[in-house]
Amino acid sequence: MSENQIECISLTKMYKSKNQTITAIDNINLEIRKNELVLIKGRSGSGKSTLMNLMSGLIKPTAGKVLMEGDCISNMPDAHLSRLLSDKIGIIFQSFNLLPAYTIYENIEMAIVPGRTDKSLLGNNIFSLLDRFGLGGKAGMLPSELSAGQQQKVAIVRTLIKEPSVLFADEPTGSVDDETASEIMDYLLSIKKEKRLTVVIATHGNISEKIADRVVLLQDGRIRNHT
Ligand code: ADP
Ligand code: MG
Repeated sequence: MSENQIECISLTKMYKSKNQTITAIDNINLEIRKNELVLIKGRSGSGKSTLMNLMSGLIKPTAGKVLMEGDCISNMPDAHLSRLLSDKIGIIFQSFNLLPAYTIYENIEMAIVPGRTDKSLLGNNIFSLLDRFGLGGKAGMLPSELSAGQQQKVAIVRTLIKEPSVLFADEPTGSVDDETASEIMDYLLSIKKEKRLTVVIATHGNISEKIADRVVLLQDGRIRNHT
């Protein structure tokens, strides 16, 4: 089996409108190995989100392809791709997207793929994942009763409860204070070790390069620097 979790091959994404074409990702080749933590860095507009969305299968490339554990996801039938997305891939955004009318517990429980996890195990898991963020006591509350940082932590638990093998986090600390940001990074690092997760994080620069196994610097949709 391939040691590569993700492979981008001559990957290109263009956005076309009436009077202009933007090449957001310009012929990128990139390999991400299993259990690696890769930081995708670059200024705003450099193509980080586009690259993340291509690698996680949310959008389709204009040219080239993305392999996930050797399978090409770029032209996979939708049903197959949604199964892969729900089974293997976890995504965290800068905005948390919690459902306002549901409790913290319900928001997390909803992420579960039916039939995959035993209900009682699930409850224990939700509480233990929340507890590690000091949020065990908040399970019955509504998202609006939590701070922005706490909501992001809940969104992370919601993603991890599905036990993905790859986690994509697009500017996960972009909307929280510095202290919460470092708690979130510590949490992601410890979960990564424990669950042998592959982690890809996009940041414009407020996440330390020290946590990463590799740093990929993007500029105008191309890889400018690669450690
Ligand atoms: P980053 O996440 O690094 O800020 P993005 O991937 O969001 O960069 O954007 C890269 C380029 O593609 C930018 O020029 C942006 O304006 C453009 N872009 C991103 N998404 C779209 C879209 N849906 N339609 C048109 N242009 C887009
Ligand atoms: Mg972005």
